Order: sequence, then structure tokens, then C-alpha cells
Amino acid sequence: MKHRETHPNLDVEGCFGCRVSLVHVGPNSTTTRGAAVSQTEQKARGWDKDMPAYRRLRKQGYQPRGIDGSARLEATATSAAQIESRPDIEKLVARGVAE
Ligand SMILES: [Zn+2]
Repeated sequence: MKHRETHPNLDVEGCFGCRVSLVHVGPNSTTTRGAAVSQTEQKARGWDKDMPAYRRLRKQGYQPRGIDGSARLEATATSAAQIESRPDIEKLVARGVAE
């Protein structure tokens, strides 16, 4: 992995090698190595939106299954069940996410 020596954080914008590397570690975000690149992975996977949404959900006591798709989840979930398999629609209603 010579590329990691050049760009250890794999966060160089427009660098094909960084992007490819991120794609490879993408599915393994729960592994140690995945965690190490999670910050740059956020960008590569659109987590610049998902991460804040994920944090907001967590802050409100939800336990989303993962960061991936949290932005969409936050915007479209009509029940807490969709977030964490636990019915708790009141909070979403209060936030205007659900009706
Ligand atoms: Zn690179």
C-alpha cells in the first residue's frame, strides 16, 4: 500500500488513489482500519451529511444502526422503528419528521 504512505489519510481531494482506497475500506467501516479512515470516508460516502444527522439522532436517544443513510433516515423516517426497530414516534413528531 504505497499510496497510504503518500496520502496517509486518504483525504486528498481529486486523488484517484484516495478514492479507490476509500471505496475498498468502505464496507469495513466497523473494523479498526475502517475506523481509522472513517473521517475521510465520511466525505467519500456523503457522510458530511450523514454524520451530523447521525449525531443528532444519537443526541436524541436514538440508536441508528449506522451512519450510512442517517441523513435520509432523519428526513424520511416516519417512526423510530425505522431508525432503531423500537416504536417511539412521539419524538419524531415533536421534531417535525413525522406527522
Ligand atoms: Zn491520494
